[in-house]
Amino acid sequence: MADPVDFEPTAAALASARRARTLALCPECFGRVFGRLGHGLSNPERAARLEKALGMARPVGGEECLLCGGTFERLPTWVERVVRAAEGFEWHRFTCGSRWDPERLAHEEALWSEVGSEWGESARSAFNRELGKRVEGRTGARGGPERPDVVFLADLPVGRVEFTVLPEYVKGRYRKLDRTLPQTRWPCRRCRGRGCDACHGTGKTYPTSVEEIIAAPLLAATRAEGSRFHGMGREDIDARMLGRGRPFVLELVRPRVRSVDLAQVARELSVSAAGRVEVLDLAPSEAAEVLRVKEATPEKSYRVGVVGEASVEKVNEALAVAVGRAIAQRTPARVAHRRSDRVRTRRVVAARVVEAAAGRFTLEVRTEAGTYVKEWVEGDGGRTEPSLSSLLGTPLKVDFLDVSEVHDTET
Ligand SMILES: [Zn+2]
Ligand SMILES: [Zn+2]
Repeated sequence: MADPVDFEPTAAALASARRARTLALCPECFGRVFGRLGHGLSNPERAARLEKALGMARPVGGEECLLCGGTFERLPTWVERVVRAAEGFEWHRFTCGSRWDPERLAHEEALWSEVGSEWGESARSAFNRELGKRVEGRTGARGGPERPDVVFLADLPVGRVEFTVLPEYVKGRYRKLDRTLPQTRWPCRRCRGRGCDACHGTGKTYPTSVEEIIAAPLLAATRAEGSRFHGMGREDIDARMLGRGRPFVLELVRPRVRSVDLAQVARELSVSAAGRVEVLDLAPSEAAEVLRVKEATPEKSYRVGVVGEASVEKVNEALAVAVGRAIAQRTPARVAHRRSDRVRTRRVVAARVVEAAAGRFTLEVRTEAGTYVKEWVEGDGGRTEPSLSSLLGTPLKVDFLDVSEVHDTET
């Protein structure tokens, strides 16, 4: 509460207040016409100060306010509507707003110039602030624009609250040990997810996925309506994901519960996913992390089993030529049906032979983001040039391929 000496309206302000006082305005709206005059006062307090300075007492009762139509008097009702709209959901941070009849807001600005006030504050921002304060007081939640759990929009003309639940985010890294598991849910191509004979009514091409395995205990714990999986890139279904794992963010849509024991979820996953997926570093996250994960272009290391007739010496010579040199990669034949056909330039950053036997060898390869490693080894019918196969002058076939590291942080 401000000291009364802070509030010393000028003669111009008092003249304007005298004009405004003749109109049917509630204390909130009358005070708000001078909302930027004097600090630390609520609008009704400001109204009382002005009325005292003018020597004009407020009559008891009176007409409906011509600015807000009684909206500010109904604030307690709006608080109740907010609380009821969010019943059954856990929330700690909220944002609130309001939708007004545009004519009412235009009328307000016209009134400011009519009475000659240059200190007016808009009804909408005052209403939003007052509603926010009261909802904070009633619920203990924190209002503000920063990362809200829920958003309330008071639709004043309609008389109801629109309620939006924002997602909860959990991040981590996953290792995939199973060569039959896609990263995300893969809808059946035939029925596009509705369920048909080809997919035995499941709507899916594969029975499960990294996404579904990780999401299951989190969906149960948060009672969310669904989830979206955001991986930092993806590996092929038949590739394992090893090393420190691949970063991901799981978005939980319309969660009812937000206080989740992630250590408990990690323990459940270590049992339910055993042998297929390992989840590391499970932690709370936020929407901005989804962008960071999607936009990251980390180098990756692979372990590649290759079948082909080439001596270790020849392979090493070819690798010495290949490393650091630009590779032109046309969109691989195997993905050309779903990606536009174009030529990318990528580089192999490092490569070496780690094992060799008659007719086969194993490479450890580190590449720039977006390099098609299988195609770089095999050549993809000339679509990747130069390839290890073209440099060696002999056909090569990738037998297996694992991602051994995603280098999103220094290692
Ligand atoms: Zn009013
Ligand atoms: Zn199907």
